[in-house]
Amino acid sequence: MAVFPRSLIEFQRRFPTDAACGEYLVAVRWPQGFCCPACGHDRGWRLERRLPTFECAGCDRQTSVTAGTVMHRSHLPLTTWLWAAYLMATHSNGISALQLQGQLGIGSYKTAWLLARKLRRAMVDPDRLPLAGLVEVDETSLPQRTKDDPPGGGHGRSGKGRMPVVGAVEVEGRKPKRLRLAALADYSARSLHAFIAQAVAPDATIKTDAWQGYPGAPVAGHDPRTVGAMAAHLVLPWTHRVFSNLKRWALGTYHGLRRHHLQAYLDEFVFRFNRRHDRHAAFHRLLGLATLLPHASYQMLIAHS
Ligand SMILES: [Zn+2]
Repeated sequence: MAVFPRSLIEFQRRFPTDAACGEYLVAVRWPQGFCCPACGHDRGWRLERRLPTFECAGCDRQTSVTAGTVMHRSHLPLTTWLWAAYLMATHSNGISALQLQGQLGIGSYKTAWLLARKLRRAMVDPDRLPLAGLVEVDETSLPQRTKDDPPGGGHGRSGKGRMPVVGAVEVEGRKPKRLRLAALADYSARSLHAFIAQAVAPDATIKTDAWQGYPGAPVAGHDPRTVGAMAAHLVLPWTHRVFSNLKRWALGTYHGLRRHHLQAYLDEFVFRFNRRHDRHAAFHRLLGLATLLPHASYQMLIAHS
């Protein structure tokens, strides 16, 4: 599992068929060998099925490699899933549902959108650790895309609303290490403190501008700076840079983001940023998380995103 495909050609050689993709998923989902998701028994028999499937020696239950995962009951071939995961994880700007539909020859936009949305759900690592040490925290806003902006058209500016976003960048040796982004209801102390409590370790020191929403945040240290009109890039250089890349990405790849799905898109941006030095390991990790997460239906994704 140590070697990841480094190019599209290598990817195609390694995953030419659903069978090859299935074997890879077995190794990703059960690196120590099959373990029954129903009873936890670790012995089972491999069955001859279209997808790799095991019958548990303890409870006789049959589990396919995609059962109970993000890929559960999908009608798409595994090759399409793996291509989509590869393109979303390794392309420096990611890939939109519209681009996936075209590149992978997916029948409908809705199917492509759902595929991308399901993979995006797997981009939050439930075991990730909060940011530590010195952490820049800053807020910004993104233009809201409305129903009047069709996929692939418009510039995301027809909606007048702007969506508040907060970002935190862990800085180590003057370099950015890890990022968190969250959609906010507003810029109040209550909203900002809730984000900081969740994203930043209690013993960290945050560096912010002089906005009144930051004092009293649940961290050990606070270094507030008064930022003049032109100097944000000097005082908070990394959040400043991340926000400008985020805005370019939101317009360039997606033609603006919808409020309803904003957090999922922010999670996607964070996933790629935090794995920017090893995008190919990111592909492996994305599929690993995809096999850990329970299945969500289209209705659930519409309702809770
Ligand atoms: Zn079992």
